[in-house]
Amino acid sequence: SSVQETLRAAIRNIPDYPKPGVMFRDITTLLGNPQAFRRAIDELVHPFAGTKIDKIAGIEARGFILGGAMAHQMSAGFIPIRKKGKLPHDTVRIAYSLEYGVDEMEMHRDAVQPGEKVILVDDLIATGGTAEGATKLLRQMGAEIVAACFVIDLPELGGRKKLEDLGVKVQTLIEFE
Ligand code: 5GP
Repeated sequence: SSVQETLRAAIRNIPDYPKPGVMFRDITTLLGNPQAFRRAIDELVHPFAGTKIDKIAGIEARGFILGGAMAHQMSAGFIPIRKKGKLPHDTVRIAYSLEYGVDEMEMHRDAVQPGEKVILVDDLIATGGTAEGATKLLRQMGAEIVAACFVIDLPELGGRKKLEDLGVKVQTLIEFE
């Protein structure tokens, strides 16, 4: 579709970043393009028209940008899910797997109330390890995850399947091999 073509064309592809053999999908060019940024946010929120969403949970750092815009458009609150050690109040923390090794992410304990309807967002899903960690953290605090949304899916890396196996509905806008 033309929306997908607009978004695809607005993403910059950077070979060998952050290491040789990796093609990095850089969304800063999409964010800097007024039409593309608006289109992306419109597409991300569209499936939830008429659904009451309490909060958008954005994954540091690009999930903050997309999630802030979505929260505004949906009249929802925003929850930052951050790398460990960045949040000032009481947190819950979870370890999650990266391509090589593990890291930890946190959210404030009082960021979500049991039963609240939450949409999780990040710019890209690859192996799904990051989004899986965020899903577990939100569910641990009693959130109902309505969906997880990403601008980009790398389907060969299996992240969508990983989230769907956890019972999470997944929405993505464009795919790259
Ligand atoms: P996963 O945990 O699904 O393997 O990796 C997804 C996480 O890594 C996301 O937080 C995403 O922002 C980041 N990431 C991995 N590869 C890329 C890429 O090519 N482009 C962008 N923009 N982010 C990436």
